[in-house]
Amino acid sequence: MKCKKCGKRAVTSLRAYRLSLCGDCYLDFYRRLVERSINKYKILKKEEKILLAVSGGKDSSAMASVLSDLGFEFEMLYIDLGIGDYSRESKEKVEELSRILSAKLNVVELKEYGFTIPQVRGRVCSICGNAKRYIMNRFARENGFEVVATGHTAEDIASFYLKNIAGNQQAFAEKLLPRIEPFDAKVVAKARPLFEISEKENMLYTIIKGIPFKSGECPYAPKPEWKEIVYDIELRKPGFTKNFVRGLLNRDRKPMETRYCSICGEISSGEVCSFCKIRMRFSSQSKGF
Ligand code: SF4
Ligand code: ZN
Repeated sequence: MKCKKCGKRAVTSLRAYRLSLCGDCYLDFYRRLVERSINKYKILKKEEKILLAVSGGKDSSAMASVLSDLGFEFEMLYIDLGIGDYSRESKEKVEELSRILSAKLNVVELKEYGFTIPQVRGRVCSICGNAKRYIMNRFARENGFEVVATGHTAEDIASFYLKNIAGNQQAFAEKLLPRIEPFDAKVVAKARPLFEISEKENMLYTIIKGIPFKSGECPYAPKPEWKEIVYDIELRKPGFTKNFVRGLLNRDRKPMETRYCSICGEISSGEVCSFCKIRMRFSSQSKGF
């Protein structure tokens, strides 16, 4: 199999694009893909103060590397969830990434807020997701960042959307867009530069380019049932996932109602925000009460 661009030996075949490419041409193809997406959907601006949320996984590591290649300046934020070896090894990967990219790495430990993920009982991932969103927004705002970028992929967005629609959670599903502008002074803009890029594309980019990332799942990761449905459809209908997430952009959106948490003062949908409720349940010592 030969590269369709230069004729060298191809290392990958992208079914959705009916394209076989060698390593160098793939790196170029991936950069253009991300750049086109950022420009078309106005996901990030070079003059903004950008914070990248990095987990040490392939997707956020690919995001950091490609944004650096595309000339964006940013700092990175790693949230240490206190999950034993998993958190320690993930942190080592982001430290290595930060050295390679010469990008400042900020680290916030969840234990500063009085608990760690292994202490949590119940719906661990939902609580963890809530904690990460809270810390990202608060850290970004308190440190003068204008936008927080996360490494959500097309599969993350499609599977999350399907899951929420199936559970009749329409309003929550509406949040999954490539960029969300702040609806209040306490909220920092959110950006998803990889929203129409697939996990396989990110994986190829990290492997071909030799970008450090932590392989292996978090020990609390649930069986990715909704993602498997998305993979399955993609296998039968190449290009489905990207078309699906692009289709979400054409939906009508309702403005959000703004309220503030009576404990910490952050944005909340009720009297007390869900992160403070979590802290009250799991905290031994707390920050900011
Ligand atoms: Fe947190 Fe769950 Fe992700 Fe682990 S799998 S990092 S617990 S959201
Ligand atoms: Zn609160």
